[in-house]
Amino acid sequence: MLDFAIIGGGPAGLTAGLYATRGGLANVTMFEKGLPGGQITQSSEIENYPGQLEVVTGLDLMEKWPEQCQRFGLKHNMNEITKISKNNDIFNITLVNGETVESKCVLIATGSVPKSSNIKGESDFFGRGVSTCATCDGFFYKGKDVAVIGGGDTAVEEAIFLANICKTVYIVHRRDKFRASPHEVEKLNKHKNIIQILNHTTEEIIGDASGVTGIIVKSKDTNETKTLDVLGAFIFVGRDVLNQTLQNEDGSFICDTNESGEVIVDLKMRTSLSGLFAAGDIRIDAPKQVVCAAGDGAMAGISAIAYLQ
Ligand code: FAD
Ligand code: NAP
Repeated sequence: MLDFAIIGGGPAGLTAGLYATRGGLANVTMFEKGLPGGQITQSSEIENYPGQLEVVTGLDLMEKWPEQCQRFGLKHNMNEITKISKNNDIFNITLVNGETVESKCVLIATGSVPKSSNIKGESDFFGRGVSTCATCDGFFYKGKDVAVIGGGDTAVEEAIFLANICKTVYIVHRRDKFRASPHEVEKLNKHKNIIQILNHTTEEIIGDASGVTGIIVKSKDTNETKTLDVLGAFIFVGRDVLNQTLQNEDGSFICDTNESGEVIVDLKMRTSLSGLFAAGDIRIDAPKQVVCAAGDGAMAGISAIAYLQ
């Protein structure tokens, strides 16, 4: 029987583990299906984590977090969790191999994954020219032309990253103004090999047996279409929260969520189900920042201690 089970090993889960173990909980396990660190490990440049003067990669930023947590006794179980349920005040955590683990309280900190754009050709060419990770796949397009689809912080930042590797980067956004912060847009504007295709929708990603060969974009002003000859299409159109572990058989959730499936919490990261906490990108109104996810995690760790007392 665990005191506290943490599902997800990103900034939220790791910080919750640090605070819970350092605060005196003896039996705390973090379940993480991959390497700890979370989605930020896919980012090429972080410059807004407090106290971090140098611009670092996400991998560098997260490198020492697991070691610091383990120092205070956090255990890491490298398994995917498929279901969380509660019976008679005890939570049952189901692992992907069917095994179950019991815990007195639980934190869900599973974060989010890239949203699908539903653009024609996206799924056909996924992994064959279509990517959602510039840090992982950018190098394959060294000296070549690529497109980035989206207009948020991720699209703009990753376009800048790709501009340092690729010959030309087209950034295609469906509106005439980027959603990304002005500071990022200012940086984007300085890159001569980034061509901004604003107020255009992406109609189709085209290709052949070798992979992507281009994308077809359509002007919202004139309805004219044109083909951009690119070998890579990087799609950054937002993220979906990973809440499937909280779903009952009938599709309802074990705790309250909003219309986007984000978990509703109070200021102590408590959900509507007693003993279940949520932290980081999965919760309502998350600012989707590493520092905020870590802050949520700290609060959840402290709340778990209070709950068990
Ligand atoms: P995540 O980081 O998503 O971690 C969740 C973890 O849970 C993952 O490791 C996942 O493998 C694991 N998991 C999921 N489901 C299961 C399961 N069923 N069983 C077991 N494990 C599971 N923020 C900034 O502050 N500054 C930036 O510059 C910045 N740049 C970004 C650039 C990119 C490309 C991206 C994608 C994000 C960026 N962000 C940035 C946002 C930041 O990464 C997130 O806000 C933050 O990582 C959220 O942390 P989290 O712990 O809530 O979730
Ligand atoms: P986002 O902010 O939700 O932006 C998604 C972008 O994709 C928007 O510009 C949106 O267009 C566009 N879009 C959505 N669906 C589309 C579709 N089907 N086809 C084409 N375009 C589509 O997502 P994000 O950029 O991934 O960022 C997620 C969160 O993480 C944000 O809160 C962001 O601030 C944060 N983040 C922060 C940093 C940082 O701090 N440096 C870095 C990365 C991410 P519209 O604009 O028209 O809606």
